Amino acid sequence: MSRETLEDWTLADIDSFKRLIVHEIEVQGPKDVLGYARQAVRTIEEAKRGDFVRGSMKAYERACESTAIYPGKGEAPGLIYTALGLAGESGEFADKVKKLLRDADGKVSEERRSAMIAELGDVLWYVARAASELGTDLETVAQWNVNKLSSRKERGKLGGSGDER
Ligand SMILES: [Mg+2]
Repeated sequence: MSRETLEDWTLADIDSFKRLIVHEIEVQGPKDVLGYARQAVRTIEEAKRGDFVRGSMKAYERACESTAIYPGKGEAPGLIYTALGLAGESGEFADKVKKLLRDADGKVSEERRSAMIAELGDVLWYVARAASELGTDLETVAQWNVNKLSSRKERGKLGGSGDER
């Protein structure tokens, strides 16, 4: 994320920036203010990259909660239910993509596009509920994923296989 204009900065950014610079000068002395400023920008950009989802999913989770009626909710069977639902809806999405190849030569009509988006919504609903059953939320799930992929990218490990790479 670059900050070409002032609009790219939030007040929280500027506040964080000030605190980071003051902290660095207090710790290191006032010798390399420009270097501290560059480091502060990098720190804020990294934090924002990691926090891009903060606050954006709560309303959606509340909507999911209001329609979350299934057996075993909040107990072990609820987790099983959401896992099965997630697999089922993922399958429905894949099936629509398969039929796109089989019946429409891969051409995405508005109708097919809408149907696939609807299935992705179903997938997302189950992801939200599975996260809830695990005692966490979508923000945390997204954050973990961003952190994992960023780390792999930095280490040149995006390709290959294995969960722990
Ligand atoms: Mg569906």
